[in-house]
Amino acid sequence: MVNRINNDAAYSESLTEDRASTSTEAVWFASEDITEADEPYLPPLLDDSFHQWINEAEGLPLFQSGEFSLFGADFQRVAVAGKLSIDRPDGLTAILDTVISSVFEQRLTVAITLDKLHVVGVPIRKRTEDLVFSVLCYVTEAEADASSARHAPNVEICAYHFRSCFYRMFEQLYVQDLLVQQKQTEKEAKRRDALFLAAKRLYDQIDVSSVLSEMLSSLEQLYPSSEVHLYLSQDHLNGDERVKPLVFKNAAHDLVAKAFLDGQYASEHDRDGTIRLAVPMTGKQAAYGVLCMTIGPGKWDEADLPAFLLLADTAGSAFENAKLYEQSNLLINELRLINELTKRLNQSLRLKEIFQFATSELLTIFDADYCCVLQMNKEKDQFVVMSSNFPALASEHFSPEYGFCGMVYRTREPLIISDYWHTRVVTSKLMDNTGSRSLIAAPIMVDGEVVGVILVTHKVPNFFSYDNYKLLQVMSTHIGLAVTNASLHAEVRRMVITDNLTGLHARHYLNEQIQNRQRKDPFGALILVDIDYFKKVNDTFGHQVGDQILIQVSNIINASIRQGDIAARWGGEELAVYLPGIRAEQAYRIAERIRMHVEAETDPVVTVSCGVSEWTFENEKISVESLFYRADMALYEAKNNGRNCIFVGQS
Ligand code: GH3
Ligand code: MG
Ligand code: MG
Repeated sequence: MVNRINNDAAYSESLTEDRASTSTEAVWFASEDITEADEPYLPPLLDDSFHQWINEAEGLPLFQSGEFSLFGADFQRVAVAGKLSIDRPDGLTAILDTVISSVFEQRLTVAITLDKLHVVGVPIRKRTEDLVFSVLCYVTEAEADASSARHAPNVEICAYHFRSCFYRMFEQLYVQDLLVQQKQTEKEAKRRDALFLAAKRLYDQIDVSSVLSEMLSSLEQLYPSSEVHLYLSQDHLNGDERVKPLVFKNAAHDLVAKAFLDGQYASEHDRDGTIRLAVPMTGKQAAYGVLCMTIGPGKWDEADLPAFLLLADTAGSAFENAKLYEQSNLLINELRLINELTKRLNQSLRLKEIFQFATSELLTIFDADYCCVLQMNKEKDQFVVMSSNFPALASEHFSPEYGFCGMVYRTREPLIISDYWHTRVVTSKLMDNTGSRSLIAAPIMVDGEVVGVILVTHKVPNFFSYDNYKLLQVMSTHIGLAVTNASLHAEVRRMVITDNLTGLHARHYLNEQIQNRQRKDPFGALILVDIDYFKKVNDTFGHQVGDQILIQVSNIINASIRQGDIAARWGGEELAVYLPGIRAEQAYRIAERIRMHVEAETDPVVTVSCGVSEWTFENEKISVESLFYRADMALYEAKNNGRNCIFVGQS
């Protein structure tokens, strides 16, 4: 509202109107007042409102005939307007000082006439308490017949108007201040919200890659005109172009390396105003990398720094959590795999089966292309391929010096080759023939000895991780245990089914085998072999020589039969041979061969008598007992017929 007023009375009227119109619009901040905190801002505010008032009161006759000046609480003149019609007397400043101090003191209008001057000082009071914060003075040439008090009411009206101008401006400033504050608060709240959301999203991620992507995206959202990079000290590169490895080329000049090494925030300002910020991403256990943000000139608000640091901090913890979670998951997975493998390995006591199972499991576990399990054959001093998914290698034999297998055998240590094409330490048929480039290998140890080697390969270089290598090592231990178990079991079983003295099978094993074969084969034959006058051998040469004779005869029997035939010690000095798929006539010839060899080769010489029997599927009653019975009968006949001969029993 700007009033142009040309006489004092109208001026006073318009102010009354003004007051009436504003009082109806009274708002809550109208009761706000200046406080101590506002003191530093008072002089400019007084100055501004004084000029506002002059603007509004333009044309007021008082301005023509005198000078208005405004003083602050420190008695300093803040502003001045109008002019004196006479030359400014030297003592005016002193007079004004006196007037102002008494106005402040009395809190009342003071009017004095001195040195041809009328001086009126009007207190400007605060609106909520009776305190004077400023004084409006009017100085005019003293008229001969009038006292200075004549001007007082008009100056008071001016002061009143000025005061309303002042408070209007104060309110404007107050509201402006509030708005600025509100905007600031809103901005803060928004930033906090964004940060909170970002942090929450970070913690929602349980895998490392997602944590990283989430953090980078959050930063890009919060600072749209920035460029964000993350430098990681460990290899967690996930294909995201914003994630890079942390390298220390020139730590002194490299902001990122500096932040990482110092463990604290570092920044750099380019000449054009571009800012680079680097903050270490740290968890509770370690520093994982550095978050780096480049922001164009004027886009960075220093007030955002705490938020930026907080986000890096949150990301560090989230990253660590995700890493630990991944690690524990890996461990759990490994334990589960080992548990499964062990369980399934132990289900079988057959070596070949164990190796085959291990091969297929290892291929799955490591997502490998090829796997090959070799066993050391001590008698032949060779490694034999026991199982492989590369058929060309099946049952291949290798010297213990050859290839990676030889290397593992020599060093007794596991092995990892990241690229066979570049580090061709040895020649490997497996690698060459399969076109593999990555390899992990481990020895199978039993009682501190390398009994086998596991080779796992992939065509892609650098395919296997260090964790894979460690896991294979653990798994090979378990495969070794399974091999031990199977070997022990085989040994126990061999002992159970083998006769100690002769090395032939035990009687119960022969019985079992005959029963088995009778279920599958169309026919078979049995030879019972009994040493003649064995009692006499014992009596003549002693029991030990008797034992030797038993062994000699057993060896002759073993040498006279095929691989599938089963020779056993039937009891005492009676031995038996079962010939699957053989008829009596042929069995007779075999028995004859045995008889001849015994007579020719034993020392001291003994002879044997044999009884032969056979069974065919046409027989109504096939049983082991009847087969033995008939062979025994035939043997009896042979004994009765002078010994050192063979008789065939009737079917
Ligand atoms: P025959 O020609 O009638 O078979 O006469 P034999 O003396 O061989 O028959 P007999 O059944 O009378 O005697 C079997 C002997 O075999 C009795 C036993 O001392 C001997 N013998 C049984 N088992 C063993 C063994 O493991 N070692 C030794 N040294 N002798 C054994
Ligand atoms: Mg006998
Ligand atoms: Mg005998």
